[in-house]
Amino acid sequence: MEPIPLLTKSDFVAGRSCVRRMWLGRFRPELKTPLSAATRDRMRTGQAVQELARRRYPEGRMAWEPALSIDQAAAETRRLMEDGASCIFEATVVADGCMARIDVLSRGEGGGWSVEEIKSSTVKPLDKLGKQITDVSFQAHVAQKAGLNVEQAKLLLIDSSYRWHSGDYDPFGALKSVDVTAEWLDSRDEIAQAISHLRPHLSSAEEPQVETNTHCKDCDFHAYCHREQPEHDLVFLPRIKANQVEALRRQGYGTIDLLPHEIKMPKGVHRLSIEALRARNVVISGQPFVGDGLAEALARIEMPATFIDFESCQDGLPRYTGVPPYTQVCFQWSAHLIEDPEREARHLEFLHRELSDPREEFCRSLWEAVRDCRTIVHYASFEKTEVTKMAADGVPYADRLQQLLAERGLDLEQLVKEHVYFAGFKGRTGIKSVLPVLVPGLSYEGLSVGDGQAATAAFRELQAPGLPEKRRAELIEGLLRYCELDTLAMVEIYRALRRLTGS
Ligand code: SF4
Repeated sequence: MEPIPLLTKSDFVAGRSCVRRMWLGRFRPELKTPLSAATRDRMRTGQAVQELARRRYPEGRMAWEPALSIDQAAAETRRLMEDGASCIFEATVVADGCMARIDVLSRGEGGGWSVEEIKSSTVKPLDKLGKQITDVSFQAHVAQKAGLNVEQAKLLLIDSSYRWHSGDYDPFGALKSVDVTAEWLDSRDEIAQAISHLRPHLSSAEEPQVETNTHCKDCDFHAYCHREQPEHDLVFLPRIKANQVEALRRQGYGTIDLLPHEIKMPKGVHRLSIEALRARNVVISGQPFVGDGLAEALARIEMPATFIDFESCQDGLPRYTGVPPYTQVCFQWSAHLIEDPEREARHLEFLHRELSDPREEFCRSLWEAVRDCRTIVHYASFEKTEVTKMAADGVPYADRLQQLLAERGLDLEQLVKEHVYFAGFKGRTGIKSVLPVLVPGLSYEGLSVGDGQAATAAFRELQAPGLPEKRRAELIEGLLRYCELDTLAMVEIYRALRRLTGS
């Protein structure tokens, strides 16, 4: 009989969210969606944080390298411990059917061991660090089962109050160690039970049968598991929760079009929201919802109006002096200005192409472009939030923009949410969900930069030293066309909404 494969931290984390995800990750990795530019970008940040963190431990010795098997890495870890190493990177331990490769295993003050995991997330209150605490708790559990006297479990996180001034990052200032020993000790029974539940799935040739639901949103196997997704899947109801989907399926209502007029929910499960019931009516009637207040809401967009959109990037390890980690740094805007809804829009844009902090030039140029407009239309709250943050940070011109948005800003997505629903929105009101339904002739297909995360990744690449001129030109063109399309899409959505009112 084949031995049961060892359960790793990646298996454990995946399995805790969905056992099918763990199984597919282990046995059918080829079904994963290919890594996006944004994911690769996040991985690079994680790698940079690992390298910085190791500088806090100059005495650290490495126990692992890609060519080593698990047994060899575990043997090397034991050898280093017997050799008196006080700090071991990638320490590999095997016990209880599990394998842990610990970021930093160091000798504690009491003679035992400290298990520390390095994370690229920021220091937060402990109740907001659940996923990270689960990670290190698994590692500490395996180390203890392997016979190590584990006296501490810690997380090494980015300190969001850190200000980088120049030169190399200070590993003692940029990173902060958080003791989560008490949380690990409290979770030991839960971890042991989860391991017992997950391990048998690793010895099974059968893909676990887990129904898709709202928890699938960010899963790497989304496309595979949803290959036969019904057109009117319940998860397309706005604001639907996983337990509501389960309750409806148990009652035999597998899709939106099957939902009756009167829906009873079991005790403890909330009734469907007004938005969900509205979406149900749209699907069943085949008629879109157009609220009576739409014309009045659109009349709030006074001419001349401008439609704006920002692109930004967040660096865990900042690239601009004085900017704290994970600050959203806006580097690009696009604006379409209209004097009359029926006349052609004028396009203006800004893209920061230097290596300096873009924010002052961003705000100044935007202020110049939109200051005379009577309505500033944005889609969702991002633009307003970022202008407010830049004003609080004292970025020149941001306070003027903040005041302008407070007096003349209008959120077009909110207007859509309140007044319009088509079955094709599939429960969402983001530009990319609404545009193909309201303006089918306009699409993001074929763009080299196709979403906000890709724009962030493109901007980071643009800032890399020594970038060949040809690639630089491609990136600039991709960024400009993407952001331009965002604001053109807003104008066309606005016009489509006007047509719905007969204007
Ligand atoms: S898509 Fe959903 S059901 Fe499929 S593996 Fe991912 S989380 Fe599990």
